[in-house]
Parts: sequence; structure tokens; C-alpha cells
Amino acid sequence: MTMTIPQETLDQLTHVPMPKHVATRQPNEMLQLGADIIPVYRSEALVIGSGAAGLRAAVELRRRHIDVLVATQTLFWGTSACSGSDKQTLHTAATSKQGDNFIKLAQALGAGGAMDADTAYVEAVGSVEAFAGLKYIGLPLPEDRYGAILRYQTDHDEAGRATSCGPRTSRLMVKVLAEEAIRLGVAFVDHSTVIRLLVAGEGRERKIAGAIAINSGDRGENNPTGLAIYLCPSLVLAAGGPGELFRDSVYPKRCFGSLGLGLEAGITAVNLTEHQFGIGTRRDEFPWNLSGTYVQCMPYIYSVDDKGNEHNFLAEYYRTTQELAANIFRKGYQWPIHATRMLDFGSSLVDLAIFSESQSGRTILMDFNRNPQPVAGDESFSLERLEPDVASYLSNNDALLPLPIDRLRRMNPLAIELYKYHGQDISQAPLAFNVNHQHMNGGLAVDTWGQTSLSGCYAIGEAAGTHGVTRPGGAALNAGQVFGLRCAKQIANQTASPPLAVAQLHKQIAQCMADITQGLSNESGLSLQQIKADIQQRMSDKAGFICYADEVSDALQAAQQLNQVIQQQGIAIPYVNKVAVSFQWRHMALASEALLTALDFYISQGGGSRGARAICSAQGEAVPESRQGPLADYRFITEKPEHRQQQLTVTYQQGKFAVTVSSLRQLDDLNAIFFEKNWPDFLTGALYR
Ligand SMILES: Cc1cc2nc3c(=O)[nH]c(=O)nc-3n(C[C@H](O)[C@H](O)[C@H](O)COP(=O)(O)OP(=O)(O)OC[C@H]3O[C@@H](n4cnc5c(N)ncnc54)[C@H](O)[C@@H]3O)c2cc1C
Repeated sequence: MTMTIPQETLDQLTHVPMPKHVATRQPNEMLQLGADIIPVYRSEALVIGSGAAGLRAAVELRRRHIDVLVATQTLFWGTSACSGSDKQTLHTAATSKQGDNFIKLAQALGAGGAMDADTAYVEAVGSVEAFAGLKYIGLPLPEDRYGAILRYQTDHDEAGRATSCGPRTSRLMVKVLAEEAIRLGVAFVDHSTVIRLLVAGEGRERKIAGAIAINSGDRGENNPTGLAIYLCPSLVLAAGGPGELFRDSVYPKRCFGSLGLGLEAGITAVNLTEHQFGIGTRRDEFPWNLSGTYVQCMPYIYSVDDKGNEHNFLAEYYRTTQELAANIFRKGYQWPIHATRMLDFGSSLVDLAIFSESQSGRTILMDFNRNPQPVAGDESFSLERLEPDVASYLSNNDALLPLPIDRLRRMNPLAIELYKYHGQDISQAPLAFNVNHQHMNGGLAVDTWGQTSLSGCYAIGEAAGTHGVTRPGGAALNAGQVFGLRCAKQIANQTASPPLAVAQLHKQIAQCMADITQGLSNESGLSLQQIKADIQQRMSDKAGFICYADEVSDALQAAQQLNQVIQQQGIAIPYVNKVAVSFQWRHMALASEALLTALDFYISQGGGSRGARAICSAQGEAVPESRQGPLADYRFITEKPEHRQQQLTVTYQQGKFAVTVSSLRQLDDLNAIFFEKNWPDFLTGALYR
């Protein structure tokens, strides 16, 4: 039996208002440096970022009586608050029917290789507490009548461990976590962009001391740029992923993350070659992933050229109408691109075809009022001729209906509602889209508590490189929650350190101020637009999901050159409002060089196509095929199995990036853990050290 969902319910899950008022914090002291008077904020822990990961850390720290401060570029902005898909997914241990097996879940999380086994296990077992906490504070996770959570199968997920609150799961997570943070009295500094990390000590004694930020609320006569200092013994980077790194990107605008910020401070990064790319609506309109039911309803995908002619281009790739329709459908749960799925007429051939078509300057569209048009010489699309997986899915969901829009409305009315809310009625007009950068699997390297290579500095959420080559859909949100919890547990179990005298950091603060002063009067410096265009074009054209092996070293040289010019010429900061973003572009330039360094190294080691990136080369062993024959331009190198057992780490030292190959961390023998033996470690807090 199918039921119409009341409009009010659809509204609640798509238009998610955020809390209006959060607690703010006044500076603890003022620092006079020359003519400038700069506020200094002290806290036991500083969380940078107010996405789902940062808010979880803040809530868990406060629950453990830690004086925590959240500094955030923009409250309720970022990927968690502003991104999603048809059913945005949270992937945790299955909590219905037979329950789950954590070893198997950990294996599934790391199945693509290059993931530490201990991290995978921590994310698997930790998912239960992380998930229960969200439920407890009001996340509307769907249940069946026995109280079990409704689950489905998503990408890289053989067991069906996914669940969702609708298109805006992560925004709803931000909402309930923010409400909890407000209840607990967590203090926030909004419009605070951290531009540099402060580090105390040398060599092995190096540890985090705090951060320098630009706070628009702290601007004044004696502080025209709004410079502010945070001092803290523990700092959690939860600033999200580097959404601005690629031109073709589905991240909301102004998502810079903290990869470059961390690299600049000497923190090691890992798995920077690993990403997700997939289809989504364009950034200049309403960026959103077109996964799940958007494609499981099998819309007609076509292109339009500059003369307005329509092209049924997918029909030139697949052999039959049935095969074409099935692969559009399968993009639903095989949503991100995977190089090997470009072979054998698999679902990533759809992405390749879209990429190739858009390279010729055509606009790609999805029409929900037309079924896929036939392949030449074959019969028309028919619900009577569907591949078995497609037929059973539609039939199980009572969605064997004539048009894509009917099927979508039946399976997921929220998916239609969401676009309507953002000004596009997909029941009336086709939707333009393309292939985008969607997620960074790598990031700052962390241990199983989320601590980076810089003592006292943690990275969680998309800032952390906790995923391997692939990740099941929803594992990113889970990882952010698990590590938000774990870093809080470790921080709360540390012995308090004496407050740091700000005088110890004068040199670093003065250097940062000098950089700002120089930028504000630097007429010959590089413009922000130049840096942005240079980085984004290079990343999308040379390090996107189609990547030509022989073009990467030139791209790396160009990225290195950009950083050299930034060093020598500096960046022109046109006015004080642009100080923060000028640092963010400086960091992006570093992140881009770091990524290309890792990619160049990987390719030089014979590294092949894996995860979302096809490493194309005339010497490649695999060739995707269309119905017209081999697609020689996309011949690609296949993955070397030994690379699954390694990670590439990148560290910035004396102005250069160094790459190291490291083996994966393993899991200790779980059979050697016993209650009485291991209880004291918990009671004394030894396990956190
Ligand atoms: C379209 C799309 C769909 C997705 N769907 C899924 C899905 O279905 N399942 C899944 O698991 N994952 C999904 N992801 C990925 C997931 O949404 C993100 O990995 C996750 O939301 C990141 O959360 P976060 O808290 O780490 O960062 P964010 O939510 O991006 O938060 C970052 C915060 O840091 C702040 N900030 C940034 N820089 C600074 C700075 N320098 N100083 C101070 N503050 C700063 C920002 O203002 C923001 O508050 C999707 C991503 C996209 C783009």
C-alpha cells in the first residue's frame, strides 16, 4: 500500500531552519602589538568549524566538562549544512534483523585498500555510540514498527547498512547537534576564519599552541583587520573538505577546508590521491548530488549543443536500450565513479560518456518526464524489458510506473520537493548537471583518536584522511561522528597543561601580521582571481576523474611554480575584507601542490586507476568500450594490487613536499582483549594515552 506523504512532513525534512542564537564568548585578554590591540581567547579546547563533525566534538567535549570554544568561518555553512543527495546517507553498523559483525563492517569500510585496519575497526564499533547519540538528541532516523532502523543498500555497501533522514541528513545532524551545543552552553565565535596555526616547541617537542584568526566581530579602530588569537592546549580541525580545489565541484561555495592550513604547519597528510567524483547539479545553480532515486527512476539523459539540437548520446555507448536504462539505474547505488566500472558496459561508462560529451561543449540534462530514448536499431524502453535487479527494485518499491517522475515521486517525493524549494521544478523542466569533485577521502593523517602528527592537534570529519581508496556512501558522516567522540574522550582524559604565555608566540603572530600588511599594500602581488583560476583549472583538467598519466608531472611543476610566485611576489589583498580568503587561497595552492606531488609519485611507481580516478595512458592495459568499439582515448593503467597495502603520506618541510610510502596500521589481536585484564586501562585512563 502506498501513502501520500503530507506536505508538512516534506517541508520539515527539506526546509531545515537552524537555531537562531548561540552563546558567544568575550576575549580573555588583549594583546598590544605596535599600534594594534588584538583580542586573545583562551579555552581548554578549540574546535575549528561548525559542521557535523565539529559540533559533535564540541558537544562531546562539553559533556566531559571541557571548556570548549567553537571558532567558525560561517555558522551553519559548509558541506554538512548545505549539501546532500536524494537520500543523504549515514552508514553505520546495521541495527535491524540480525545486527552486524564489526569485523565485516571494518573490512567493508577498507575494502578499496589504503585504509588503516585499526581506523576501520574504530569506525565500525564506534558507529553504534555515535549513531545512538544522534538518535538520542533527536535526529529523525526512520524506524520500522519494531523500533529497528530502516536500512538500504548504497554504494560500496554489499550488506545494506545505509540509512537516511531524507535529502538533508547532514543538515539535520547539524541542527540537532547545534541545539544540543546550545543546551550545554558551548560558546561560539562566528565569522571567525582561522588563517594560521600557532605551534610551540621544537622538533619532537612541537605541539599545538593555538591559532590566528580573522574575526569580523573583532574589527575596530585598533584592529582594522579583525585579527584574533586563540590559545588552547588542544585544537580540533573540523573545517571540512577542500571544496574550492576543483573547478567542477559540487561542494557549496567558500569551502576551503584546512588541508593547506595543516600542511603549512608541518602536519602530515595521507591518501591525497583519493577522492570521489560523481554526477550532480552545477555549482553556480544549486549544487547537489544526483545519486540514489534521482537515477534509479531512470530519467532520460541527453545533451544539447550550441544550436539547441538534442543528442541521445548515451545510446552511442550502450548496446541495448535495456542495458542503457539499467546502467542509469545502477548509478543510484554505484553513484561515485569507479574506473573499473567503465569497463564491460558498467555504470561508470555513463559518467565517461557525460564527461566526453561535455568536453565537446554540450550541456548535459536529465529529463524526468521522458524515459530513456532507444538505442538505434533496438526497441523502445519498456517496463516489460528491465534487467532483473532493476525490475525487482522498482517492483519492491511499488514503483513500476510509466514515467521517471512518477517513479521518483513514488520512491522519494522529497527528492522533487528539494529542487522545488531551490527554484527548480524537475516535474516540469529538465535539470542540467555534470561530473563533479564531491569528496576528499584523504586529508590530514590521524591516529585512532583523531590526533595528527602535531601533538595536541586533531583532525576530524572531512579534514581527516581516514578513508581509503573507496568508502561506502554515508561513511564520511559516520567517520566525522566517531572521531568527534573519540577526540573528545582523549582530550578530556589528558592532564591539564599550564596556560601558555602569549609572549612565547609573538614571533609567529608578528610574522602573520607582516604578511597581512605586505599583502594589503602589494600592488604587484598575484590576484585572488588569478590564483583561483590557475588552481581550479589545473586540478579539474589534469587531476580529475579522467587523468592523463603523462600530464601530471607538468601539472605538478605548474603548481610548484605558483607557490614559488606566491612566495616571491606575494598575494595582492585588495581590501581588509579579503584578508581571510587570501590566506585560504594561499593554503589551496599548497594543498594543490601536495595532491599533485602525491599523484605524480603514485604514477611514477606504476600506480594505476583506482577509486574514482582513471589514470589514462597509451600504455594502459584496460580499454573501456562503447557499442561503436574501444574508446582508445580512455585506455587506462590498472591498479597494482600491492598499492592497496600502502598509503602515501605527504609532509611540507623547508618549502618542499616530501612523499613517504607507509604500510597500513594493523589491528591488534582482538582475541587477546579480556574484561578483567583490560578494565584497569579504562579505569585509570591509560587507554587514552
Ligand atoms: C553534495 C554532497 C553530498 C554528500 N553526501 C554524503 C552522504 O550521503 N553521506 C556521507 O557520509 N557524506 C556525504 N557527503 C560528504 C559529507 O557531507 C562531508 O564529508 C561532511 O559533511 C563534512 O563534514 P565536516 O563537519 O567535516 O565539514 P563541513 O560540514 O564542511 O564543516 C566545515 C566547517 O568549518 C568551517 N570552516 C572552514 N574553514 C574554516 C576556517 N579556516 N576557520 C574557521 N572555520 C572554518 C565552515 O564554516 C564549516 O562550519 C556529501 C558531500 C557533498 C558535497
